[in-house]
Amino acid sequence: MKTTVFHVDVNSAFLSWEAVDRLQKGETTDLRTIPSAVGGDREKRRGVILAKSIPAKKYGVITGEPVVTALKKCPDLTLVPPNHELYSRCSDQLFALLEKRCPVVEKFSIDECFLDMSGTEYIYPEPLWI
Ligand SMILES: [Mg+2]
Repeated sequence: MKTTVFHVDVNSAFLSWEAVDRLQKGETTDLRTIPSAVGGDREKRRGVILAKSIPAKKYGVITGEPVVTALKKCPDLTLVPPNHELYSRCSDQLFALLEKRCPVVEKFSIDECFLDMSGTEYIYPEPLWI
């Protein structure tokens, strides 16, 4: 049996989960499509960037940098406060979904894991099918 391991990592997890939650609640702007980031406080100009959108990345905004630095690079950056309760719930849903389909799920972080897919070729036509 050949060993097959997948690495799963949600792209900009906090920003992605935040964007989808807001769209589901009726917001019309998708945070993923504009320069946006999760983290910090725009008014107090403090805190750090926890996740950023791809458009924000194009301005050079990076995860972990101070909000004040990110706002200098991208003055129109839309900043949203973190909602850790939401991210925890989304993470639980992600792992519940993966655990239904994969025999061994090794959680690495809130949005990242390794899936041992070895032997699943007997269940699924092709591991990538999953
Ligand atoms: Mg990630």
